[in-house]
Amino acid sequence: MSETTAKVNLMNFDRPQMEEFFLGIGEKKFRAHQMLRWIYHGGETDFIKMTDFGKVLRQKLDESCDVIAPAVQLEQTAKDGTTKWLIALPGKNAVETVYIPEPSRGTLCVSSQIGCALNCSFCSTGAQGFNRNLSTAEIIGQVWQAAQRLKHDSQNRRLTNVVMMGMGEPLLNFDAVLPALNLMRDDLGFGLANKRVTVSTAGLVPGIDELAERCDVSLAVSLHAPNDKLRDELVPLNKKYPIDTLLAACLRFLKGKPRATVTFEYTLIDGVNDQLEHARDLAKLLRDIPSKINLIPFNSFPGTKYKRPSADAIKHFQTLLMRTGYMTTVRRTRGDDIDAACGQLAGRVVDRTRRSAEIKRQNESKNQGAAA
Ligand code: SAH
Repeated sequence: MSETTAKVNLMNFDRPQMEEFFLGIGEKKFRAHQMLRWIYHGGETDFIKMTDFGKVLRQKLDESCDVIAPAVQLEQTAKDGTTKWLIALPGKNAVETVYIPEPSRGTLCVSSQIGCALNCSFCSTGAQGFNRNLSTAEIIGQVWQAAQRLKHDSQNRRLTNVVMMGMGEPLLNFDAVLPALNLMRDDLGFGLANKRVTVSTAGLVPGIDELAERCDVSLAVSLHAPNDKLRDELVPLNKKYPIDTLLAACLRFLKGKPRATVTFEYTLIDGVNDQLEHARDLAKLLRDIPSKINLIPFNSFPGTKYKRPSADAIKHFQTLLMRTGYMTTVRRTRGDDIDAACGQLAGRVVDRTRRSAEIKRQNESKNQGAAA
């Protein structure tokens, strides 16, 4: 082995993987539990300070391992207390993590990929293209960084919920996301209740089935349209997994979970999907699924052709759904003075697809057309 062999980052391991690692280096299983406690309860990353490990083991770990969360490059706090962290990643990339305080809870919105490959037409992350999947350490590291900062928070803000609703499609990065979800819920990790950890997906059907089988968390589905024609336009993934296939997967997800619901996210876009007939069709569509509906007023970003509906239109849409019996919330726009609202997370994506260049070219030719 050469001397430059990369060290093993222990933040990549959930409990079973950490146990396997310690057994693999000839140590007892309980060392894994101590290590998890040091990292996630103690916030400690320096093996030398982990005093309940013997000196020889500490040195052995120090030589071959490290505990590294991605670095916070910038912290911005909005007037409403929402905090956004820019998380620096190798190769000039960055993703964003957002903390949203509410009176009874504090929710962290975590990214799963650098950019996104799905190209939903109304999302700024999509317009930035895609670079790569995040590792488990880069995902749980976002939670670790937030928890470290909130520990000494003057306003005593707490972290009670995590939503995988930042940049990227979590179910397209399942292998790295799963151990991170485990660490969020593990008593030796962040100890969050299963239902307080939510995976949001644009509708990746095989991923929903895999999640149902392997991990007990809440599911949110970004629906945005009540029919395939419109959904094809907004969420191109719909061409592969159309609405009936997607809703069948939601029903399979709920099987054997008597009190669980699926949250359907619906971004309201002016003149596109915000008419009362859309609300009526949506109500009909979800009739057989225990569901909650979360309406997200469209958040603008540079270069988009879409607009947010009027407050009245949003209210009417919500009222119709509530009258039909759906628990329907309108997501308050949080942190928009620091571009931390849904769909505004952009980070810094060194695009490896040609998408961002293509979108830029299209916008330029449109602008030239308008000027002519
Ligand atoms: N890829 C996953 C995780 C991203 S979650 C998913 O699609 O669910 C981000 C949520 O914000 C999704 O519901 C997404 O559709 C929504 N969103 C994206 N762009 C938006 C915008 N400009 N305004 C409001 N909501 C937006």
